[in-house]
Amino acid sequence: NNKNLYSLFESRFPANRTDIAFEGPEIPTYSFQDVTDGAARMAHLLSSSGATPGDRVAVQVGKTVEAVILYLACLRAGLVYLPLNTAYKSAEIEYFITDAEPAVVVCDPASFSEISEIASKAGVKSVFTLDNDGKGSLMDASAEHSTEFSTVERAGDDLAAILYTSGTTGRSKGAMLTQDNLASNAKTLQSYWQFQPGDVLLHALPIFHVHGLFVALHCAFLSGAKVIYLKKFDPAQVLANLPKSTVFMGVPTFYVRLLNEAGFTRDACRNMRLFTAGSAPLLAETFNAFRDRTGHVILERYGMTEAGMITSNPYDGERKAGTVGFPLDNDVRIVDDAGNKVKDGDIGILEIKGPNVFKGYWRMPEKTAAEFRADGYFITGDMTQKGEDGYYRIVGRSKDLIISGGYNVYPKEIESFIDEMPGIEESAVVGRPHPDFGEAVVAFVVPDGSIRTLSDQDVIAYVKEKLANFKVPKEVYIVEDLPRNTMGKVQKNQLRDRAAAI
Ligand code: ATP
Ligand code: MG
Repeated sequence: NNKNLYSLFESRFPANRTDIAFEGPEIPTYSFQDVTDGAARMAHLLSSSGATPGDRVAVQVGKTVEAVILYLACLRAGLVYLPLNTAYKSAEIEYFITDAEPAVVVCDPASFSEISEIASKAGVKSVFTLDNDGKGSLMDASAEHSTEFSTVERAGDDLAAILYTSGTTGRSKGAMLTQDNLASNAKTLQSYWQFQPGDVLLHALPIFHVHGLFVALHCAFLSGAKVIYLKKFDPAQVLANLPKSTVFMGVPTFYVRLLNEAGFTRDACRNMRLFTAGSAPLLAETFNAFRDRTGHVILERYGMTEAGMITSNPYDGERKAGTVGFPLDNDVRIVDDAGNKVKDGDIGILEIKGPNVFKGYWRMPEKTAAEFRADGYFITGDMTQKGEDGYYRIVGRSKDLIISGGYNVYPKEIESFIDEMPGIEESAVVGRPHPDFGEAVVAFVVPDGSIRTLSDQDVIAYVKEKLANFKVPKEVYIVEDLPRNTMGKVQKNQLRDRAAAI
């Protein structure tokens, strides 16, 4: 009765271990046997490098299958996998390594000397390298180890991973995820999205984030499905591999970029059964354009590092644009600031409780205590509305709520409105400190190029005609694009700083 997540995966791998687990245009082909053997070798290496169950293994490497095998090796050895965004530079890495105190660090050879220095100060026992081709000291040292490893016993409540949040609203926090957290969400998604043996998952997401690492890979592992593994998102490569695939998971920007490809047609998607979107809001415009072009309806879901997937549009049944569907395997409630449930249809903050909800923030007991209610509900910080149709809508983050002249202004409402204006591609609305109103509404808009004379005053006049005065932007800035991170999340912190500085 080992609750080690790896044991669950292993029990679902195909009986024929020579079946392909990973293939791709830029990588060798790996069978399930290759994957389990590799994970056994690395589990031996990690264990013999001074890491004992419960220790962290911090990993900042490119997207290779070997990095996935490393994740599985950590699980097998009872170690806590801690992946780091490849964009992080030394100052950030120093914070994460000092904070997490890992026993082992695995990094790209290019950052080896820099990271070794940080690691030695933090008491790290071993530092290995793994490059973008899946080579390095990690592989060399693993090679001599046995392919037999008996997976370490873990309780459901033991940590499997620490994932740092994206840092959209402030400093990233390390979410402690248990074996049971990950197992429960994986099973929920695999069945809700009807993953089957024979599915082929086209994987173009980064693997340091919940979306690409857990949502995507766990569904494949639990169904013994093959993964076509792309080193990064490249529209042409996605197009070339779609005909061989059945499922694709993307952030909204992936879909926007695919729609810019002339070759992205119904025919290219002929073998696909599912496209999912998440990590950031999918614009209705993208949802509609996608349906018109491909005949497929994108399934939007919503989740976060701390809880995996929380809601999803239905697999069978209507998928609605601008909504994130229905609660998955967790209890949810929408409350006001005081924690009282709001009426159906009203906007409030979503709180959740369930087997998928994390154990707390790593070494942040106060932050953890502040984000949980006494009855165990976790405060997601996402402003949410349950429609009469029962579908949930994410209206924005509570931290992005603007209070202007005493009125609540939900940026999403104004953004959706501005996005419909002819000549506008997309927009982002933030608050700027204002002496009279507390905060003033400020909009950043990206023109689509169809109206060359589009001005800030045009946008203000457009909003003024239809929305209450307190929602009308005091200032509109026309910009070329919105600042986004790799997951396609608009960096509103940056926009707020820009607005305050102007
Ligand atoms: P941080 O917590 O460090 O500020 P973050 O919240 O962006 O960063 P993640 O855990 O990666 O870090 O992202 C989870 C958040 O992403 C959710 O709380 C929600 O705001 C947003 N999100 C995810 N899916 C959707 C979606 N389908 N629609 C709208 N927002 C979404
Ligand atoms: Mg968050």
